Amino acid sequence: MMKQALKNKVRIETHLAHAGTHWDDRIGSVSMPVYQTSTFRHSALGQSTGFDYSRSGNPNRQVLEELMAAFEGGARGLAFSSGMAAIDCLMRIFKPGDELIVSEDPYGGTFRLFEKVYRPLGIEAIYVDTSKREAVASAITKRTRAVFIESPTNPLQRIADIPAICELAGDKGIRCIVDNTFLTPYFQRPLELGADIALYSATKYLSGHNDVLLGFIITKEKDLGEELYFYQNAVGAVPGPWDCWLTLRGIKTLPLRMKRQEENAGKIAAWLTTHKRVRKVYYPGLKEHPGHELLGRQSKGFGAMISFEVDDLEIVSRVLSHVTVFLFAESLGGVESLITYPAVQTHADIDRPIRERIGINDRLLRLSVGIEDVDDLIDDLARALE
Ligand SMILES: *Cc1c(COP(=O)(O)O)cnc(C)c1O
Repeated sequence: MMKQALKNKVRIETHLAHAGTHWDDRIGSVSMPVYQTSTFRHSALGQSTGFDYSRSGNPNRQVLEELMAAFEGGARGLAFSSGMAAIDCLMRIFKPGDELIVSEDPYGGTFRLFEKVYRPLGIEAIYVDTSKREAVASAITKRTRAVFIESPTNPLQRIADIPAICELAGDKGIRCIVDNTFLTPYFQRPLELGADIALYSATKYLSGHNDVLLGFIITKEKDLGEELYFYQNAVGAVPGPWDCWLTLRGIKTLPLRMKRQEENAGKIAAWLTTHKRVRKVYYPGLKEHPGHELLGRQSKGFGAMISFEVDDLEIVSRVLSHVTVFLFAESLGGVESLITYPAVQTHADIDRPIRERIGINDRLLRLSVGIEDVDDLIDDLARALE
């Protein structure tokens, strides 16, 4: 079993950098070994090392899950084979007839899961603008079981008042769930803000290198963690040991990456606001962003996702084929900067009228800003927008 990594209580950067370093006391390996095994040998009847079968538990997954629970300040961390697998597992706690109030421009895959998989099973998502507390309040019915918040939303960067919504939900016995993929617990800490569950696609910032798919659920309460562990094991969408190892390695440098990516994003967003072909810039770090102050209160950082609207549809395809440092690809959060076209990539599953109404139009582009030299990123965009 894992020894306490560090004897004294340390700050988060230290805790993350040392994750897994004391697992193997016999050999003393600094990097945690990869336990690439499906099963575990027992020395006698009734004896176990604590591991029986890798769907139920594997050392690499356990270290990662404990690290995330500690990082988030929750009772239980659970890792999944992807962010969607994490959300799907979470949905198992609801029953036909239940309603969820969901942020209006959610991740496209979340919308698809709710509409195409869970709605036919009788679990209904009601979409509201969660940046308006009153909109959430008036959507609550007798059947509401949870509020599912993304904040900032994707790609329009709307900010929800997480403490206010969680308080509202808590008063009515409704669970508050936050998909915190964009900010990670390094910047924003949903459980401390009042949420019951924090969710992650660790595919993004947490792993950080565009090389692995993984998801997390972290619960505030132990009982809910146990209930979800039952579903994790019963359904079996668990990550393999290598993916857990890669994610653990990624998390060690999360603070460095988040700071650098945010700094780069702030400069790019400011530059975009001055560009004559750019009509609108959505980045909560900009003072003029409507959620700037609110996010500043509930998060240590503004993140590194920027969306912007160009003034002409023709520019879109030109930009996408002329960028060379930015890679034209779906996803976000890694060290390499990516550019995405939400209307045809990440948000294609949201019906066009809904998309248009909430502002995801055909002239909107989204940037995930990486760790490169910011001047190279700006030069790249400047050339592509020419
Ligand atoms: C990517 C993403 C997901 C889904 O995660 P996968 O790891 O791709 O399955 C869920 N929510 C948000 C906000 C995301 O960005």
